[in-house]
Amino acid sequence: MSEHFDLVVIGGGSGGMATARRAASYGKKVALIERGRLGGTCVNVGCVPKKVMWHAAEFAQHARDATHYGFATGVPEHDWAKLVDNRETYIQRLNGIYARNLDKDEVEFIAGDARFVGERRIAVGERELEAEHVVIATGGKPHWPDIPGAALGTDSDGFFTWRERPDSVAIVGSGYIAVELAGVLNALGSEVKLLLRKDHVIKEFDSMLGNTLIERMKDAGIDVQMHRSAAELSEAGEQIRVDFEDGGSVTVDKLIWAIGRLPNTDNLDIEASGVALASDGTTVVDEWQDTSIDGVHALGDVTGAIELTPVAIAAGRRLSDRLFGGQPDRKLDYHNIPTVVFTHPPIGSVGLSEADARAQYGDDAVKIYTSHYVALYHGVLEHKIPSDMKLVCVGDDEKIVGAHVIGDGADEMLQGFAVAVKMGATKTDFDDTVAIHPTSAEEFVTMT
Ligand SMILES: Cc1cc2nc3c(=O)[nH]c(=O)nc-3n(C[C@H](O)[C@H](O)[C@H](O)COP(=O)(O)OP(=O)(O)OC[C@H]3O[C@@H](n4cnc5c(N)ncnc54)[C@H](O)[C@@H]3O)c2cc1C
Repeated sequence: MSEHFDLVVIGGGSGGMATARRAASYGKKVALIERGRLGGTCVNVGCVPKKVMWHAAEFAQHARDATHYGFATGVPEHDWAKLVDNRETYIQRLNGIYARNLDKDEVEFIAGDARFVGERRIAVGERELEAEHVVIATGGKPHWPDIPGAALGTDSDGFFTWRERPDSVAIVGSGYIAVELAGVLNALGSEVKLLLRKDHVIKEFDSMLGNTLIERMKDAGIDVQMHRSAAELSEAGEQIRVDFEDGGSVTVDKLIWAIGRLPNTDNLDIEASGVALASDGTTVVDEWQDTSIDGVHALGDVTGAIELTPVAIAAGRRLSDRLFGGQPDRKLDYHNIPTVVFTHPPIGSVGLSEADARAQYGDDAVKIYTSHYVALYHGVLEHKIPSDMKLVCVGDDEKIVGAHVIGDGADEMLQGFAVAVKMGATKTDFDDTVAIHPTSAEEFVTMT
């Protein structure tokens, strides 16, 4: 016998939690099924542990700089295992908060692997649930290459299980996870080789950001190797040897595959629901998060949309507002979503890249402003790391359609500017805003 719900959510990550809790706030009967730890990728093996590691790396950098600020000490010895313990304790606390929130909101939490047994019928363990609406929020997982010895490497999930820092690491990939992990390991003392299949990193961002990042990574001591495609991994004593397609090899203690992510749709018996998948396995959804089957919706990473926690959350809350909250027009606007890459220095970006703006509006309509500056923090340092900014403007009124920065403070700088871009600010609006001095953010309102 099926149990009936207004909403069944598959996946207790960022998107699933947000959808379920918002629906319950409208008095609906909601079940949420999760096979692993509540909080999903972000809390357990994504944003949260990554940012803790980034803070540790920033700390190491500041400790190196400290002598220039009059402190006698150099970099104190670092205890990786202690950092990991503290990080995991924090995450366990978050897992507990997530469970209590479901309880408080009267969402029924069901632990287990969900699979479809009909259009809107879900089996989990011995139970079968039927719902007016089903939301697929099953996220994604790291992609692995199909080459001999690949299993000698690990992925970002594996990185978060390390109990000690390896002396040498190869990171394969050019996306944000690859460059973020490269920065963390390098700053904390590992020898890092970043192996790129081509000659660029974070290619979906404005090219100024990727090109500058490569320079900053090299300057920081990361060995950035271009046109390196791994053909085979093999054991070399305690180490891993990587042989490349065009000859040559490197030997390292650990290797991390960071070559993209795949949607979790292969574990759902999705054919029983009839939901259409794209050729890459992502669920096909329209602007309302609706799939090809009435009453079945999908959101977050499983849809291949912009893979960010706040995007999954925003899509989920808006979906529940629309379905259960009497707001028929509510949906997520996927334009001008700001994002940060937690490199060293960090990157902040919102809106169109210069190339996309030129393609969309034509060369004549686009005006670019740039700034290359050294933040005051570096003034007293021997080794000064510059920052770079770009504003992408269009039309006679120079509407700002893109704002990009790589430099200290970029991570905390962009949120406010993203509001301005979203509201349609022009270059004159930026110019008319009095600067906050001395900061790096002031560069955004003083560009000529
Ligand atoms: C290393 C790393 C760093 C990241 N850093 C950032 C960052 O700094 N900022 C940011 O915004 N985003 C970041 N992200 C991306 C972010 O984590 C994801 O965009 C976000 O978690 C997507 O949420 P989601 O709800 O779609 O999926 P998830 O959070 O992945 O949740 C999906 C859940 O579904 C469960 N599930 C899957 N199949 C089933 C099943 N059959 N039955 C039951 N449960 C199932 C999974 O166990 C999982 O808990 C990072 C990701 C990674 C990997």
